[in-house]
Amino acid sequence: MKVPYTNFSAHHATLKDELHRVIFEVINSGNFSGGAVVEQFEHKFAAYCGIQHAIGVGSGTEALWLALKAMEIGPGDEVITVPMSFFATAEAISVSGARPVFVDIDPVTYTMDPESLRAALTSRTKAIIPVHLFGQTADMAPIEKFAMDHGLYLIEDAAQCHGATYQDRKAGTIGHAGCFSFYPGKNLGAFGEAGAVVTHDEYLAEKIRALRDHGQLRKNEHQWIGWNSRMDAIQGAVLTVKLESLDANNRFRQNHASFYREMLSDVEEIVLPDIGENRNHVYHIYAIQTNDRQSLVRHLVKNEIGYGIHYPIPIHLQPAYQHLGLKRGAFPVAEHCADSFISLPIFPELTSDQLDKITETVREGLSRPQQLFARCAMPEDDKSIILNFSTQVNAKS
Ligand SMILES: *Cc1c(COP(=O)(O)O)cnc(C)c1O
Repeated sequence: MKVPYTNFSAHHATLKDELHRVIFEVINSGNFSGGAVVEQFEHKFAAYCGIQHAIGVGSGTEALWLALKAMEIGPGDEVITVPMSFFATAEAISVSGARPVFVDIDPVTYTMDPESLRAALTSRTKAIIPVHLFGQTADMAPIEKFAMDHGLYLIEDAAQCHGATYQDRKAGTIGHAGCFSFYPGKNLGAFGEAGAVVTHDEYLAEKIRALRDHGQLRKNEHQWIGWNSRMDAIQGAVLTVKLESLDANNRFRQNHASFYREMLSDVEEIVLPDIGENRNHVYHIYAIQTNDRQSLVRHLVKNEIGYGIHYPIPIHLQPAYQHLGLKRGAFPVAEHCADSFISLPIFPELTSDQLDKITETVREGLSRPQQLFARCAMPEDDKSIILNFSTQVNAKS
């Protein structure tokens, strides 16, 4: 039995007829870019989040960039974010012309450590972008207070957190703007690229609406230099259908996570994900930590179980950010996580047989006596594993 890391055909099987119908409606309408179908999705997504405005855009990366642009953040400004995220968070800041300033993450929730903000603040700081990593929000109360106390914009990177809550507020609705991605693999995924910005702020909403369409307030009247970041009508139609099952799918993900906890919590060699106070978790990614990732990966591959690594290189150590002059050691928690994270499949349609196989394989791949045996049976040329094993033993003893 193979277990893929994601399975889109299972995901779309029950919705197939409905998806075909709405896609053909778009084809028959002849309106492919923006328009009524996208507006309908914007209304439904705003209502789902419990916020006034949602603006459909081309991607999550563009959602972040458009929010910064609408706030007139650019050259000379600094934006505080975290180094443990998908690259796009920092990339959008850099493309706006501002400079990303990193703070480390909390070792339990893997989201922005609010205690680190003060040291990162300068007279050039304009905004904070916490990342709601893997499906739970950052600790928003102290971050929100810090932003208010210092007159900073607060932008939530909610690309991995559709439908999660902090206290009684939905992810994305706490700051001045919340940025979502509908990349196919996200908890709410399109049939291609798409994203959205949500906001309570009427002015920001209007400006982002204009900026995604070349800065036009009215047709042919360009108020600002914007970009083309309109959402495709087909994506709006698909997302409107799929939004209906987002909560149910998040519950499946939560049930799988409970199963993992039940079956794996006694395994000493791994750290399972924890949930911070006042929030829930929608498990976009189920990342565990192990000091022996290499052999777990090998065992998963051998048993045909899909896995992911989110993210093996923290952003401050990426080649593209070497000009910031940040070295290994700058953000120890993020760096440790990058070295030890491995993500297990958590897609909603996982069957109980698949879940059994995953947990059995992980247990096997990490339990010491069997591992020693497996290693002895390994081909001789596989020095890296042996080497890794001996450093492990030395480190533990
Ligand atoms: C996916 C993702 C993005 C980028 O979204 P795209 O739609 O792929 O452009 C940004 N931030 C985070 C945390 C993400 O996971």
